[in-house]
Amino acid sequence: MEVKILNVISERDSKNCIVDFATQFGSGRAEWFGSPPHLLYSYGVEFSIEEELVWGDSIIQVEKEQYAIDYQDEFIILRGRLESIDADGNADIRIGHSILMIVTVGSPPAQDALVQIRSKKPVLYPHDEYGLMPLDSSYQQSWTPQLESVFSSTTYKEFLERYGRIRLEYSRLYNLHLQYEPQERRDSPESKQMDLLKDQSNQMLQEYIRRLPVHFVAQCPYCNSPILQPVDSFSLIGFYPLINISDFYHSSEAWTANLPPPRQCCRHAIVATLSVNLNGLIPDDLPTWALNRKWGKLHSAPRVMVWPLIARQTSAVIHALPIGRLDDPEPIHRYTAYFVTYFANGTTNLYTEDMWVPTDVERPATEGVLYDPDLAKWVRAGRLFWLDPNDPTRLIRDPAESFPYTNIQPQGWYEIVEKGQINGPHAYYKTWQGDAPLHDESLPQTIE
Ligand SMILES: [Zn+2]
Repeated sequence: MEVKILNVISERDSKNCIVDFATQFGSGRAEWFGSPPHLLYSYGVEFSIEEELVWGDSIIQVEKEQYAIDYQDEFIILRGRLESIDADGNADIRIGHSILMIVTVGSPPAQDALVQIRSKKPVLYPHDEYGLMPLDSSYQQSWTPQLESVFSSTTYKEFLERYGRIRLEYSRLYNLHLQYEPQERRDSPESKQMDLLKDQSNQMLQEYIRRLPVHFVAQCPYCNSPILQPVDSFSLIGFYPLINISDFYHSSEAWTANLPPPRQCCRHAIVATLSVNLNGLIPDDLPTWALNRKWGKLHSAPRVMVWPLIARQTSAVIHALPIGRLDDPEPIHRYTAYFVTYFANGTTNLYTEDMWVPTDVERPATEGVLYDPDLAKWVRAGRLFWLDPNDPTRLIRDPAESFPYTNIQPQGWYEIVEKGQINGPHAYYKTWQGDAPLHDESLPQTIE
């Protein structure tokens, strides 16, 4: 059967990863055998259920005349036709053109009956790694799939070590080159070496971005396109000022810039902002070279940026992703990153002079603008939606009572200072006290 990979979730206690996938009969979640697959690629796979199924319990006869694949309450549901069964309970189930071989116990229905399997132990076995093919070529461009193209926890740490050595050597040369008279510095041997190191570290940063895992960060409320971005889920190093991955989320041009992995946005996406909650931890796992310089402001709790959302026909989608620490052998959920991605529909007045707030490089402004930490207000107004934390391919619009990110604490901004200590969080000087206008309403000229 052909499956398209929607999400790759790594599992700590298992060698294999878990994937969300879509097929022509529906979508589900299952363990993936072998090296992790590429996001949004299609693979030919064999389904396997790694448990004995019991007739009348985990496998039942059903009436519905159609093949189906679904995922409910951590169970995969597979519906097909009982093609054959032998005296030992070995059965073949047909789902479309595919045959699923299972082992059953108990008394089976007659051959050709429609049956439904409910199991927590589905595994996908890819036919062969090289049989993969991109389903949608529009954002693949020159990217050639290579399994080593995504960081593992080990290659990530090796990468940081190499990058850190370059940074340390650069600072050493920088201090040496200061001993020259200012007019001689440019031509000093140290300065030439520094230029080389700069090139090297730029190349390394490109490699870094290319090798980050790509995640669902939002889904467009207007055209349903998944928004896919590289996210450094290994550690906080993405916010190191010379890397500053947040820059990538600050304009849709940067997202679509001709850089590999399969990133994706849509024409409605405007900008995304990020908050990082430290969940009470001190980031003293960060390497010394990274703490040698001042880090930028980070925000502790998710908040909505008000200016795009007081225009007509705009909305935002929030999603949380885990970030790990460098002192864990494998990344596990230590910090939480909250992405808020903003969208504008075709009939919006967002791009008028009354509403649009740019930076001086014409990108949408994300700093020095009004934020509102009261997210529930924007959910109730139909302006803020969220991805299902258990199934990021599902956009949820209501009810406001099930919104999972109300009142995340602490709020405010903070800085990472020497030895990974925290300065903050500090309360915002000013937050939005006004209402959240409904989707078809706008509040022009309320923000300077
Ligand atoms: Zn869209």
